[in-house]
Amino acid sequence: MPHILIVEDEAAIADTLVFALQGEGFTTTWLSLAEAALEFQQRTPADLLILDVGLPDISGFEACKRLRRFSEVPVIFLTARDAEIDRVVGLEIGADDYVVKPFSPREVAARVKAILKRMAPRSSEAVAEAGGPFRVDAERVQIHYRDQLLVLTRHEFRLLQALLAQPERVFAREQLLDALGVPADAGYERNIDSHIKSLRAKLRQVVVDAEPIQTHRGLGYSYSPRHA
Ligand code: CA
Repeated sequence: MPHILIVEDEAAIADTLVFALQGEGFTTTWLSLAEAALEFQQRTPADLLILDVGLPDISGFEACKRLRRFSEVPVIFLTARDAEIDRVVGLEIGADDYVVKPFSPREVAARVKAILKRMAPRSSEAVAEAGGPFRVDAERVQIHYRDQLLVLTRHEFRLLQALLAQPERVFAREQLLDALGVPADAGYERNIDSHIKSLRAKLRQVVVDAEPIQTHRGLGYSYSPRHA
C-alpha cells in the first residue's frame, strides 16, 4: 500500500486527511514539523507528501526545497492564502499539486490517487529495464540497490547512473564531472572522489562487503557487476 506522509500542524486538519486516506486504503504518517518530516523521509521514504505551507518551524516551501536535494517524491501543498498559491503555481518549488484550505479531504485523496497513478507506469518501466542488483528510475531520480532505496544527492544519483549505464567501463574523473554537468575544471576533480566515497558508504549500508564501484588507480572508476 502506498504510504502518505502528512505534514500539518493543525491536528483537526491532519485527522480528516488521515481518515480520508486510510479510507482509500493508504497507510499514513502524520508529523507536525517540517524538520521531523525531512528526517523521516530520509530514513523511511513515503510515496507522497502532503505538505502544509504554514508550519511552525520552517515553511513548507523551504521544506520542499530541502526535500528536493535528495528526493523526487511527489508533493501536494496545502495552502491557506492567495499569496502562497501564486508561489506554488509558479512551480519553482517543485510541487506536483496543491489544494487550498478549507478543502474536502476526499478531494485530496482523489488527487493523491491521480498523482500516484501517473507515476506508476514509469516505475514499472524502470523495473522492466532492470538487470542486476540495481534499479534506476530516472523519472523519479531514484536508484534501488537490492530492493532498497538509496537516499542519494542529485550528484550521487547522476554519478551512479552514469557508472551503471556502462558496466566495466572505466570513467576518468573528467568524464564523471561531465555526467554531473559540472565543467571539468581542475579544482572539481577531487569532488568526484568525495562523492564516490559517500556513495560507497551508502552502498555498504545495504551490502556490507560489496564493492560495485571499483577504483582504477590513475585512471578513474568503473561499475563492476561481479562485485555488486
Ligand atoms: Ca499550518
